[in-house]
Amino acid sequence: MDDKNPASMHEQLDAESRERYARQILLPEVGETGQKELFTKKVLIVGAGGLGTPCSLYLAGAGVGEIDLVDSDVVALSNLPRQVMYRMDDIGKPKALLLAERLMAANPGVKVNPIVKRLDKDNIKEVVQGHDVVAACLDNLATRYILNEACVEAGIPMVEAAVSGFTGMVTVVMPGKGPCYQCLFPKRSTASKKPSSPPPIAGPAPGIAGALEASEVLKLLLNIGEPLVGRMLLFDLKMGQFQIVTASRREDCEICGGM
Ligand SMILES: [Zn+2]
Repeated sequence: MDDKNPASMHEQLDAESRERYARQILLPEVGETGQKELFTKKVLIVGAGGLGTPCSLYLAGAGVGEIDLVDSDVVALSNLPRQVMYRMDDIGKPKALLLAERLMAANPGVKVNPIVKRLDKDNIKEVVQGHDVVAACLDNLATRYILNEACVEAGIPMVEAAVSGFTGMVTVVMPGKGPCYQCLFPKRSTASKKPSSPPPIAGPAPGIAGALEASEVLKLLLNIGEPLVGRMLLFDLKMGQFQIVTASRREDCEICGGM
């Protein structure tokens, strides 16, 4: 963090911060106190693709103090229709580095740490620890399960989203308080490292789901409203429908059962 970095909890917001976050500070749920609180928070975003791009843009924009951004991929031509932050001259370059650079260019008061690595069972605990909230912005099942397990074990809330076609789902895993990802989707044996063929995706679907994830992260960081714990928000853009489905923990869940 540099000199422009926002004031600590005990100091007044500086003039630039007051101007930058003016509309957000006007929210009674945020105010100057909430804004200063956001500056102290640390979020992990796993994935810098269709979900991670909008999610990270809104969190950096909101002034979350520190963001760790993990992704092992490089930008491909087929990403551009939905990962609209990236440009033609980004093709072949690591997404985590590009996105971190752009987030900090948009808001130099936010510290963004790009981590170019693929998460696996051996490194995930170390990457997850020390964060207030984790946003899962993933495109594969295997990583969703190991990230869920690491977050439950560390007691860190995780915001989860997935999209397919014109549809999407967003939910929050709050360890010990609601169902974990494996309670919701227990068929671990079907998890493969990557989908065998890329699923169809309408560009706006991850844009909407990623923005919803950012909103859930901010709610958790500031203790605002009702996070999607034990609830899945499902949307179908083709039908123009949003709905909530409730879900419970499974007592026999091998990840969170007995907590
Ligand atoms: Zn569970």
